[in-house]
Amino acid sequence: TVEVNGLVRSFGNRTVLSGLDVTIGAGEFVALLGRSGSGKSTLLRVLAGLDPAADGRISVKGRVSVAFQQPRLLPWRRVWRNVVLGLRGRGTDRALAERALDEVQLGHLADAWPRTLSGGEAQRLSLARALVREPDLLLLDEPFGALDALTRIAMHELVVDLWQRHRPGVLLVTHDVDEALLLADRVLILDGGVITAEHILTSRRPRRAVDHADVRGLVLN
Ligand code: ATP
Ligand code: MG
Repeated sequence: TVEVNGLVRSFGNRTVLSGLDVTIGAGEFVALLGRSGSGKSTLLRVLAGLDPAADGRISVKGRVSVAFQQPRLLPWRRVWRNVVLGLRGRGTDRALAERALDEVQLGHLADAWPRTLSGGEAQRLSLARALVREPDLLLLDEPFGALDALTRIAMHELVVDLWQRHRPGVLLVTHDVDEALLLADRVLILDGGVITAEHILTSRRPRRAVDHADVRGLVLN
Protein backbone atom coordinates (compact mmCIF):
# COMPACT_ATOMS: atom_id res chain seq x y z
CA THR A 1 0.00 0.00 0.00
CA VAL A 2 2.83 2.39 0.80
CA GLU A 3 6.53 2.24 0.02
CA VAL A 4 8.93 4.88 1.29
CA ASN A 5 12.59 5.12 0.26
CA GLY A 6 15.19 7.51 1.60
CA LEU A 7 12.70 9.91 3.13
CA VAL A 8 14.26 13.14 4.46
CA ARG A 9 12.48 15.89 6.37
CA SER A 10 14.18 18.77 8.17
CA PHE A 11 13.11 21.79 10.14
CA GLY A 12 15.69 24.51 9.63
CA ASN A 13 19.04 22.82 10.17
CA ARG A 14 17.54 20.03 12.27
CA THR A 15 17.05 16.82 10.28
CA VAL A 16 14.27 14.73 11.78
CA LEU A 17 13.91 12.02 9.15
CA SER A 18 17.26 11.19 7.58
CA GLY A 19 16.77 8.73 4.76
CA LEU A 20 14.02 6.56 6.18
CA ASP A 21 12.80 3.41 4.44
CA VAL A 22 9.51 1.74 5.29
CA THR A 23 6.94 -0.43 3.50
CA ILE A 24 3.44 -1.26 4.63
CA GLY A 25 1.72 -3.96 2.64
CA ALA A 26 -1.97 -4.13 1.87
CA GLY A 27 -3.91 -5.17 4.95
CA GLU A 28 -0.85 -5.19 7.20
CA PHE A 29 -1.08 -3.84 10.75
CA VAL A 30 2.18 -2.10 11.71
CA ALA A 31 2.99 -0.30 14.95
CA LEU A 32 5.63 2.44 15.19
CA LEU A 33 7.42 3.05 18.47
CA GLY A 34 10.01 5.69 19.22
CA ARG A 35 11.03 8.23 21.80
CA SER A 36 9.22 11.53 22.10
CA GLY A 37 10.59 13.85 19.42
CA SER A 38 11.95 11.01 17.26
CA GLY A 39 9.78 12.04 14.32
CA LYS A 40 6.79 9.68 14.40
CA SER A 41 4.18 12.39 13.86
CA THR A 42 6.42 14.01 11.26
CA LEU A 43 6.48 10.73 9.32
CA LEU A 44 2.70 10.37 9.50
CA ARG A 45 2.14 13.93 8.32
CA VAL A 46 4.37 13.36 5.30
CA LEU A 47 2.70 10.02 4.50
CA ALA A 48 -0.72 11.67 4.75
CA GLY A 49 0.39 14.32 2.27
CA LEU A 50 -0.01 17.10 4.84
CA ASP A 51 3.69 18.05 4.81
CA PRO A 52 6.30 17.93 2.04
CA ALA A 53 9.44 15.81 2.12
CA ALA A 54 12.86 17.33 1.38
CA ASP A 55 14.03 14.17 -0.35
CA GLY A 56 13.09 10.56 -0.95
CA ARG A 57 10.46 8.59 -2.76
CA ILE A 58 6.95 7.85 -1.50
CA SER A 59 4.67 5.58 -3.44
CA VAL A 60 1.14 5.29 -2.09
CA LYS A 61 -1.50 3.09 -3.67
CA GLY A 62 -5.05 4.03 -2.79
CA ARG A 63 -6.66 6.39 -0.29
CA VAL A 64 -5.01 7.42 2.96
CA SER A 65 -6.81 8.55 6.12
CA VAL A 66 -5.26 9.89 9.27
CA ALA A 67 -6.57 10.22 12.84
CA PHE A 68 -4.66 12.36 15.32
CA GLN A 69 -4.27 12.03 19.06
CA GLN A 70 -6.24 15.22 19.58
CA PRO A 71 -9.30 14.81 17.39
CA ARG A 72 -9.67 18.01 15.37
CA LEU A 73 -13.42 18.44 15.38
CA LEU A 74 -15.37 21.41 14.10
CA PRO A 75 -17.38 22.53 17.14
CA TRP A 76 -20.05 24.32 15.10
CA ARG A 77 -20.93 21.19 13.13
CA ARG A 78 -22.93 18.29 14.45
CA VAL A 79 -21.28 14.88 14.84
CA TRP A 80 -22.45 13.48 11.50
CA ARG A 81 -21.31 16.64 9.68
CA ASN A 82 -17.85 16.17 11.20
CA VAL A 83 -17.81 12.64 9.79
CA VAL A 84 -18.71 13.97 6.34
CA LEU A 85 -15.54 16.09 6.45
CA GLY A 86 -13.63 12.83 6.07
CA LEU A 87 -14.98 12.59 2.52
CA ARG A 88 -13.02 15.75 1.71
CA GLY A 89 -15.63 17.34 -0.48
CA ARG A 90 -16.53 14.14 -2.30
CA GLY A 91 -20.00 13.90 -0.79
CA THR A 92 -22.29 15.15 1.95
CA ASP A 93 -24.26 11.97 2.31
CA ARG A 94 -25.80 11.58 5.76
CA ALA A 95 -26.39 7.86 5.20
CA LEU A 96 -22.66 7.30 4.64
CA ALA A 97 -21.82 9.24 7.79
CA GLU A 98 -24.35 7.26 9.80
CA ARG A 99 -22.92 3.98 8.60
CA ALA A 100 -19.43 5.05 9.71
CA LEU A 101 -20.82 6.18 13.07
CA ASP A 102 -22.58 2.84 13.51
CA GLU A 103 -19.25 1.10 12.91
CA VAL A 104 -17.79 2.86 15.94
CA GLN A 105 -21.02 2.53 17.95
CA LEU A 106 -21.81 6.23 17.83
CA GLY A 107 -24.93 6.09 15.66
CA HIS A 108 -27.07 7.41 18.49
CA LEU A 109 -25.01 10.61 18.68
CA ALA A 110 -25.21 11.61 15.00
CA ASP A 111 -26.99 14.87 15.85
CA ALA A 112 -24.99 15.73 18.98
CA TRP A 113 -22.53 18.63 19.17
CA PRO A 114 -18.82 17.71 19.44
CA ARG A 115 -18.36 19.58 22.75
CA THR A 116 -20.89 17.26 24.42
CA LEU A 117 -18.83 14.13 23.62
CA SER A 118 -16.65 12.32 26.13
CA GLY A 119 -12.96 11.83 25.29
CA GLY A 120 -13.55 8.28 24.10
CA GLU A 121 -16.55 9.31 22.02
CA ALA A 122 -14.50 12.07 20.39
CA GLN A 123 -11.79 9.51 19.57
CA ARG A 124 -14.38 7.22 18.00
CA LEU A 125 -15.78 10.14 16.00
CA SER A 126 -12.27 10.83 14.75
CA LEU A 127 -12.01 7.17 13.73
CA ALA A 128 -15.39 7.30 11.95
CA ARG A 129 -14.23 10.38 10.04
CA ALA A 130 -11.09 8.47 8.98
CA LEU A 131 -13.08 5.35 8.00
CA VAL A 132 -15.82 7.05 6.01
CA ARG A 133 -13.61 7.36 2.93
CA GLU A 134 -12.78 3.64 3.07
CA PRO A 135 -9.02 4.12 3.27
CA ASP A 136 -6.51 1.62 1.94
CA LEU A 137 -4.06 2.97 4.50
CA LEU A 138 -5.09 4.17 7.94
CA LEU A 139 -2.59 6.32 9.86
CA LEU A 140 -3.26 6.50 13.60
CA ASP A 141 -1.18 8.90 15.70
CA GLU A 142 -1.48 7.84 19.35
CA PRO A 143 -5.23 7.61 19.05
CA PHE A 144 -5.78 6.09 22.48
CA GLY A 145 -3.28 8.02 24.55
CA ALA A 146 -5.70 10.20 26.47
CA LEU A 147 -8.17 7.48 27.37
CA ASP A 148 -8.76 5.65 30.64
CA ALA A 149 -7.68 2.00 30.73
CA LEU A 150 -11.13 0.49 30.24
CA THR A 151 -12.03 2.76 27.31
CA ARG A 152 -8.64 2.03 25.79
CA ILE A 153 -9.31 -1.71 25.91
CA ALA A 154 -12.68 -1.14 24.26
CA MET A 155 -10.98 0.96 21.55
CA HIS A 156 -8.37 -1.77 20.97
CA GLU A 157 -11.15 -4.28 20.38
CA LEU A 158 -12.95 -1.84 18.11
CA VAL A 159 -9.87 -1.14 15.99
CA VAL A 160 -8.99 -4.83 15.62
CA ASP A 161 -12.60 -5.57 14.72
CA LEU A 162 -12.68 -2.77 12.10
CA TRP A 163 -9.33 -3.88 10.71
CA GLN A 164 -10.47 -7.51 10.43
CA ARG A 165 -13.62 -6.49 8.58
CA HIS A 166 -12.13 -3.88 6.20
CA ARG A 167 -8.46 -4.87 6.07
CA PRO A 168 -6.82 -1.49 5.45
CA GLY A 169 -3.09 -1.24 5.96
CA VAL A 170 -2.58 0.38 9.38
CA LEU A 171 0.34 2.37 10.73
CA LEU A 172 -0.25 2.94 14.43
CA VAL A 173 2.02 5.32 16.32
CA THR A 174 2.06 4.61 20.03
CA HIS A 175 4.17 5.01 23.16
CA ASP A 176 2.64 1.89 24.61
CA VAL A 177 4.71 -1.26 23.97
CA ASP A 178 1.91 -3.51 25.17
CA GLU A 179 -0.52 -1.85 22.81
CA ALA A 180 1.87 -2.30 19.89
CA LEU A 181 2.35 -5.98 20.70
CA LEU A 182 -1.33 -6.59 21.21
CA LEU A 183 -2.49 -5.03 17.97
CA ALA A 184 0.25 -5.18 15.35
CA ASP A 185 1.72 -7.85 13.09
CA ARG A 186 5.00 -5.95 12.92
CA VAL A 187 6.58 -3.42 15.27
CA LEU A 188 9.05 -0.79 14.02
CA ILE A 189 11.39 1.36 16.07
CA LEU A 190 12.17 4.90 14.87
CA ASP A 191 15.42 6.33 16.20
CA GLY A 192 17.86 8.89 14.81
CA GLY A 193 15.67 9.56 11.79
CA VAL A 194 15.55 5.99 10.48
CA ILE A 195 13.92 2.66 11.31
CA THR A 196 16.52 0.97 13.50
CA ALA A 197 14.70 -2.23 14.39
CA GLU A 198 11.83 -4.36 13.32
CA HIS A 199 10.05 -7.08 15.24
CA ILE A 200 7.67 -9.46 13.51
CA LEU A 201 5.02 -11.02 15.70
CA THR A 202 4.35 -14.60 14.84
CA SER A 203 2.30 -15.78 17.79
CA ARG A 204 -1.44 -15.53 17.66
CA ARG A 205 -3.39 -13.10 19.80
CA PRO A 206 -3.19 -12.92 22.75
CA ARG A 207 0.56 -12.46 22.46
CA ARG A 208 3.08 -14.46 24.40
CA ALA A 209 5.18 -12.85 27.11
CA VAL A 210 8.41 -13.70 25.27
CA ASP A 211 7.48 -11.25 22.51
CA HIS A 212 7.14 -8.54 25.09
CA ALA A 213 10.60 -9.21 26.46
CA ASP A 214 12.12 -9.14 22.95
CA VAL A 215 10.55 -5.87 21.97
CA ARG A 216 11.22 -4.21 25.30
CA GLY A 217 14.86 -5.02 24.65
CA LEU A 218 14.69 -3.32 21.24
CA VAL A 219 13.06 -0.21 22.67
CA LEU A 220 15.41 0.13 25.62
CA ASN A 221 18.64 -0.55 23.72
P1 ATP B 1 5.95 12.53 20.36
O1 ATP B 1 6.10 11.09 20.73
O2 ATP B 1 6.27 13.43 21.50
O3 ATP B 1 4.62 12.85 19.72
P2 ATP B 1 7.19 12.51 17.74
O4 ATP B 1 8.06 11.33 17.55
O5 ATP B 1 5.82 12.46 17.13
O6 ATP B 1 7.12 12.83 19.30
P3 ATP B 1 7.55 14.81 16.04
O7 ATP B 1 6.33 15.56 16.41
O8 ATP B 1 7.53 14.11 14.73
O9 ATP B 1 7.98 13.78 17.18
O10 ATP B 1 8.76 15.84 16.08
C1 ATP B 1 10.05 15.44 15.76
C2 ATP B 1 10.98 16.61 15.91
O11 ATP B 1 10.68 17.58 14.91
C3 ATP B 1 10.87 17.33 17.24
O12 ATP B 1 12.14 17.67 17.67
C4 ATP B 1 10.05 18.56 16.93
O13 ATP B 1 10.43 19.64 17.74
C5 ATP B 1 10.42 18.84 15.49
N1 ATP B 1 9.31 19.46 14.75
C6 ATP B 1 8.14 18.88 14.45
N2 ATP B 1 7.35 19.70 13.75
C7 ATP B 1 8.02 20.86 13.62
C8 ATP B 1 7.75 22.12 13.01
N3 ATP B 1 6.61 22.33 12.36
N4 ATP B 1 8.70 23.07 13.07
C9 ATP B 1 9.87 22.84 13.70
N5 ATP B 1 10.20 21.68 14.30
C10 ATP B 1 9.30 20.70 14.27
MG1 MG C 1 3.91 12.71 17.90
